[in-house]
Amino acid sequence: MHWPGVIEHYREYLPVTEKTPVVTLLEGNTPLIFARNLSQEFEGKIQVYLKYEGLNPTGSFKDRGMTVAISCALERGAKAIMCASTGNTSASAAAYAAKSRLNCIVLIPEGAIALGKLSQALLHGAKVIAIKGNFDEALNLVKEITSKYPIALVNSLNPDRIEGQKTAAFEICDVLGTSPDYQALPVGNAGNITAYWKGYREYKEKGKTENLPRILGFQAWGAAPLVEGHPIKYPETLATAIRIGNPARGEEALKASEESGGLIEKISDEEIIKAYKILARKEGIFVEPASAISLAGIIKLYKRGYFLKSSTSVVKVVCILTGHGLKDPERAIKESSRPKIIPPTEEAVLEVAGYL
Ligand SMILES: *Cc1c(COP(=O)(O)O)cnc(C)c1O
Repeated sequence: MHWPGVIEHYREYLPVTEKTPVVTLLEGNTPLIFARNLSQEFEGKIQVYLKYEGLNPTGSFKDRGMTVAISCALERGAKAIMCASTGNTSASAAAYAAKSRLNCIVLIPEGAIALGKLSQALLHGAKVIAIKGNFDEALNLVKEITSKYPIALVNSLNPDRIEGQKTAAFEICDVLGTSPDYQALPVGNAGNITAYWKGYREYKEKGKTENLPRILGFQAWGAAPLVEGHPIKYPETLATAIRIGNPARGEEALKASEESGGLIEKISDEEIIKAYKILARKEGIFVEPASAISLAGIIKLYKRGYFLKSSTSVVKVVCILTGHGLKDPERAIKESSRPKIIPPTEEAVLEVAGYL
């Protein structure tokens, strides 16, 4: 079957009309991969599925929201768009802006975005501006500026972003034939957790599914405002995509976890890196560190006996893998041992390979 992108596939659920000029890079339809090796490690008690959002056109789930945000902005006559970004929003905004010939301005925290993401925004021709400040400060500036000038804001404060991103919940239900028991995901600015919860509820209301999953949101230890109960002035974590101290949709994130009977927890950088390596080495899936927090959270909860209280004997858990590992190659290299350098002889190769 030909995949037309999320707007055409889920048109009836989205805020578009026949007049909306659809801008798409054929985002969505990402694989839901059964993690056989990982599931065995959970002693058959958990079936883990991985929603590999890194396979979207610009390498993250942001494309689902951007196709809707940009199409609707164009319909309203926009000539320029703007966002603050920890990296992936800027990569996505820049690509969709290029496709639709819109001007794109992105504000990033200086020195705090992964190399792959920066390279995308630059090459797609966005006006990339680095501020001596963090994401939260960048977002405040963008809110100010877009309220005064005719520039459309495309951060997840924009409701069209949420509408597009909820389609990932639809896809999961369409593949499983039901909603999962649990869904784990990273929480940064909290747009995505809001979007998934909205998607699952809408599918249930439309009679497409009978149940709702419990939503498990995870924040990094040094950037966990929703766990601590107050904004974090200087958020810190190596998972730069979720290095956010004052989430714009924090209230909605708390509501999603409470209403669904899930939770929001904080996870250390060490646990994130452990899960990052497990995904790569046991399942063959390369993600950026922020995405690995989904699995890190499941491992932590499993060890605590969290899933034992579930009524079903085997629980289905979907981990959202939000971004591709190639976004942050520096991290992958830092966490690995460098290749040995040897003379170009058969003997030397076989020795290092462990055959001699
Ligand atoms: C944007 C992003 C997140 C955080 O999503 P929010 O909607 O801000 O909570 C997590 N992981 C990756 C890879 C991202 O790009």
